[in-house]
Amino acid sequence: MHYAALASGSKGNCHALTDGERTLLIDAGISLRQIRQRLDALGFQAGEVQGLALTHEHSDHIGALGVILRRTDWAILATRETRRAAEKAQDVVIPTERWIELEAGRALDWEGWRVLPFALPHDAADPVAFRVETGGCACAVVTDLGQPTALVADHLQDLDLLVLEANHDVDMLREGDYPPQLKARILSRVGHLSNAAMADLLARVLSPRLKRLVLAHLSEANNHPDLARFAAEEVLRGTAVALHVAHQREPLSLTAISD
Ligand SMILES: [Zn+2]
Ligand SMILES: [Zn+2]
Repeated sequence: MHYAALASGSKGNCHALTDGERTLLIDAGISLRQIRQRLDALGFQAGEVQGLALTHEHSDHIGALGVILRRTDWAILATRETRRAAEKAQDVVIPTERWIELEAGRALDWEGWRVLPFALPHDAADPVAFRVETGGCACAVVTDLGQPTALVADHLQDLDLLVLEANHDVDMLREGDYPPQLKARILSRVGHLSNAAMADLLARVLSPRLKRLVLAHLSEANNHPDLARFAAEEVLRGTAVALHVAHQREPLSLTAISD
């Protein structure tokens, strides 16, 4: 399996997984044009995208949904609540024949992918993260969570690749320019994961199988990639896990993540 973060951050998120023939996207918060350009630049074939899995309805995750519905035939994988909330948020209709229903906690075997959505605490209708397995390789994409829960940790055991939110440095956020209400939302139990909370969760799910860690959804205003890295490196010290940081503007591509 190959993984790419096409974009990651509060201005738009899109992750791609491919087994060489088929590509599955997680979220589409950048334009379809950018998605296609970045897939092409990375050697992923945009024409091979089969499906788009949605984590939740915030615009940095589904901003391109309307254009995607009009211009592609990709299947849309979403829970019932997220489908409804996404339709409302973007003023679109996801036709039933293109909708693959997901349910948090229930694995779906679809077109060679095993997709397991699981619930996390975030201020959306029915937010999920995804554990995806194919060809003996397991990865998870986990962003937009206010706190690490036992349920989340349970789903992150025995992964080859983990993409994990490191949204903010708590001091930078507290001392920064955001309005108090927004600061409170981000810091809340249904907001975003801090570097310190990321490190706590990472320590709970670190296994000998883990080969790569990608830090994602970094705030450009309230974090610095070095701070996120340092927090993760403390936990990864003495392991062989390769550490990467996903960016808003530059795609990150990782070749084969299984052996
Ligand atoms: Zn987000
Ligand atoms: Zn969100």
